[in-house]
Amino acid sequence: MSANPGRQTAIQNITNRPPQDVSPTDFLGKIWAEDVFNLERMEWALSKNAFKAIKKTVQTGEPLDAATANVVAAAMKEWAVSKGAKFFSHIFYPMTNITAEKHDGFIVSDSEGRAITEFTGSLLIKGEPDGSSFPNGSLRMTNAARGYTAWDPTSPAYIMRTDNGATLMIPSVFMSWTGEALDKKIPLLRSNAAMDKAGRKVLELMGETDIAALNSSCGAEQEYFLLDAHFANSRPDLLLAGRTLFGAAPAKGQEFDDHYFGAIPARVQVFMQDFEDQLYKLGIPAKTHHNEVAPGQFEIAPYFEAANVAADHQQLMMTLMKATAKKHGFVCLLHEKPFAGVNGSGKHVNWSVGNATQGNLLDPGSTPHENLLFLLFCGAVIRGVHLYGPLLRAVIATASNDHRLGANEAPPAILSVYLGDQLEKVFTDIKEGNIHTGEAGGEMDLGLSQILTFERDPGDRNRTSPFAFTGNRFEFRAVGSSQSVSGPLVAMNTILADSLDWIAEKLEAELGAGKNQADAVVTVLRDLMNEHGNVVFGGDGYSAEWHREAVEERGLKNIPTTADALPALREDSVVQLFSSTGVLSPPELESRFEVYAEQYILSIEVEAKLVLDMARTLIYPAATTYLANLAGASQSLSGMGVEMDGTIMGAVAEQVNLLSSSIAGLAGAMEKEDFASTEEHMQFCAGDILPLMNEVRAAADALEGYVADELWPLPKYQEMLFIK
Ligand code: ADP
Ligand code: MG
Repeated sequence: MSANPGRQTAIQNITNRPPQDVSPTDFLGKIWAEDVFNLERMEWALSKNAFKAIKKTVQTGEPLDAATANVVAAAMKEWAVSKGAKFFSHIFYPMTNITAEKHDGFIVSDSEGRAITEFTGSLLIKGEPDGSSFPNGSLRMTNAARGYTAWDPTSPAYIMRTDNGATLMIPSVFMSWTGEALDKKIPLLRSNAAMDKAGRKVLELMGETDIAALNSSCGAEQEYFLLDAHFANSRPDLLLAGRTLFGAAPAKGQEFDDHYFGAIPARVQVFMQDFEDQLYKLGIPAKTHHNEVAPGQFEIAPYFEAANVAADHQQLMMTLMKATAKKHGFVCLLHEKPFAGVNGSGKHVNWSVGNATQGNLLDPGSTPHENLLFLLFCGAVIRGVHLYGPLLRAVIATASNDHRLGANEAPPAILSVYLGDQLEKVFTDIKEGNIHTGEAGGEMDLGLSQILTFERDPGDRNRTSPFAFTGNRFEFRAVGSSQSVSGPLVAMNTILADSLDWIAEKLEAELGAGKNQADAVVTVLRDLMNEHGNVVFGGDGYSAEWHREAVEERGLKNIPTTADALPALREDSVVQLFSSTGVLSPPELESRFEVYAEQYILSIEVEAKLVLDMARTLIYPAATTYLANLAGASQSLSGMGVEMDGTIMGAVAEQVNLLSSSIAGLAGAMEKEDFASTEEHMQFCAGDILPLMNEVRAAADALEGYVADELWPLPKYQEMLFIK
């Protein structure tokens, strides 16, 4: 079969698709977490002492002693084998947005050659994948590319099923032999610890004595496209780049707004149910699903969980979504902008911080004291976003997310904070000295009583803001749909840790000078708002006026491309931020810059090669065939004494020549090899390669509007978006 089965075959295959195999599902109580080795299962399987030890490890991340590890490993193996698992694997999260695994059998043979199963504590705790095949940036040099994985007991092990097998998966970190982080989990765990340490200082200064470990929480809303696999299979761009590099706008797009929250197509419902059943078995609390703005676009959101577990679950969801889509004859596109001119996909990362004793610290409380804590943590976020806006932009910077940010459908590439009218007023009042504390006595009369009237879930949600307070959490909306949530969570936790440290120092000074708590808090927040209040913005983030005001009057940065954004990881202030909080050492951070920059360059180069390949081998042949047909027709007619009006032929010829010359232009640019720096190479991709790719596309898309339908080789937008 040819690599490209062709558009007509695709449409035929879809029309003749056999009916779906729909099997009824079990009830929730039966399947919930049945494939997870969670605390409940451990309690059942382990001795009292072993369970006590592992429970402590699970809750605190403290290392496990060797004897307990052996006992836990044995129980885990028993359980996994009873579930049909023959293999186990550490699953880890390298610096790409995907996961990595190395599977090993439980099987060993004993001295008499019989097959027995074995799984020791040391196998559970440590694994040795070949590190050299994973990106590690500059750490490559220092560590001979070797690394090992280590079990993260705070994220439960689970069974991953395929049609005829099952594997025990053990969530793990991945580090070099000298202890450098080579993955996305280690910095997340460290950023939590940093935030816990700094938050605790603030809580202590505020008179709290019973303080449980602080943790961040994450609930991520995931947008995605579903497309019939027959279409994707006849589009090399979708297969290899996850987005269409060609395609004229359809006659009907999303302008009718008839897809959003509309009825979910039956075939998609079946997919969702299957997918969600798998999630439930894995203890992932899938909560909402609905259509999204674009035709063929959907969203799923699980209930929020501890950030580390949520990040693992989110990653697992992306894997399962793709696999399940395949099973149902779909391709699941997680790309941020699969179709030009059609709404793109994001991932809203909802984030809050709290603990078991003080609760969610981003939730306005019911007493003035609780509200002081809330205002301090909220203020810390404001300061962090203002000081480290470029860092927040850098952690959402990918070649694919660049197509979405700043395109007036997704948040702009300017980092600002939306607080909602009420909370913004409170902070403005604090800044302008309109809140006076300690006036008329009485517990509720701190002048802060207005805070008590916060709406939990304000209806006036501002969808144009990249970073919005939504009642009891912040929602980072500019994250890309294909991204791991870890990078954004690390950045948010770390800037919060830094700001809480700053607040603790100021607070200590004010309290030391004899101020009461409320006075001290208001003084610290007033200073904070004077320095950082500029980042608070409640208006229309899409407007040209905001783009001007943000940059010219408020000194915020508008950073449209990844090429402009990633260098923030090299700025002194950011290097200092990560090293002072202990989240990433300077070499670890530098290695991340290198890996991400390389990924950016590679993805653009792959796309550029695809553009050339598809333009030369699919589009140019179709267009010239059509042109020849037209010329032939014109000649025959002329022989009969009928002269054809040459308008269409002229237009096609013009676009064919534009296609040819733009192909030459792009191919020429692709030959450039020597760059003075990675930064320069990235700029070349953003400033030269991408515009040249767009020129090829413009000619090809124009031709799509002329060339005879039966000759056009690529499935068209309207077919891909509307045929299900
Ligand atoms: P919307 O589309 O209106 O933003 P959804 O209900 O689709 O809302 O998604 C909101 C997400 O935020 C869910 O994953 C939810 O569990 C999560 N969430 C709710 N409260 C918190 C919180 N305190 N911390 C973190 N995430 C939260
Ligand atoms: Mg949301």
